[in-house]
Amino acid sequence: MARSYVAEARRRVGPKRLRIRPIIGRLKGAHPDAQIALRSRSELELLVAVMLSAQTTDVNVNKVTERLFVKYRRPEDYLAVPVEELERDIYQTGFFRQKAKAIRGTMRMLLEEFDGRVPRRLEELVRLPGVARKTANVVAAELGDPQGIVVDTHVRRLSQRLGLTREDDPVKIERDLQRIVPRDDWGIFPHLLIWHGRRVCIARRPLCEECVLTELCPSSRV
Ligand code: SF4
Repeated sequence: MARSYVAEARRRVGPKRLRIRPIIGRLKGAHPDAQIALRSRSELELLVAVMLSAQTTDVNVNKVTERLFVKYRRPEDYLAVPVEELERDIYQTGFFRQKAKAIRGTMRMLLEEFDGRVPRRLEELVRLPGVARKTANVVAAELGDPQGIVVDTHVRRLSQRLGLTREDDPVKIERDLQRIVPRDDWGIFPHLLIWHGRRVCIARRPLCEECVLTELCPSSRV
């Protein structure tokens, strides 16, 4: 019964390849301000902010980096202080020991292999200590060269609700999205889903009656 209801809903909205462009267009209209919420003024600050954002909120990271980026301006600065001092400075973002170790390892590699600069290629970014695919994807996209699609908890939930994937694993979801999202939109697409997920398609109680995607969404309740 539940299965036939899902099949019926999928039939009602049509194939995802035909829906993806209108979905993106409507989300752009609904969230013209969708962009990364982490504050940074340089490539290095961007990388550190994204590394700190694991398992915490962007608001929390912004509070910490406001002070952090006054004190640490170059990769060398993160290595010039005892590790305990860096741990104290990022303590509020949680997992501070792990993050301090990853940041210092990354700074060392930036200096040794990349002339102190943040690389742009995904395969180089993921070599940095503590930089997983999601972090690398966010950084590459913000540097203007998205080479994948960021899949966080909002992107996963909305992609599933919108019938864009049947997968649960972020890597497989990303693969499904890469097949249908136009390349030019790879950078903005996750921001659109994240902002829509925060404002409208909320995890526990999606506000379908306020959503611009109702006729394009197989999970719509209206
Ligand atoms: S119609 Fe409802 S379930 Fe579908 S995207 Fe909008 S809020 Fe989410």
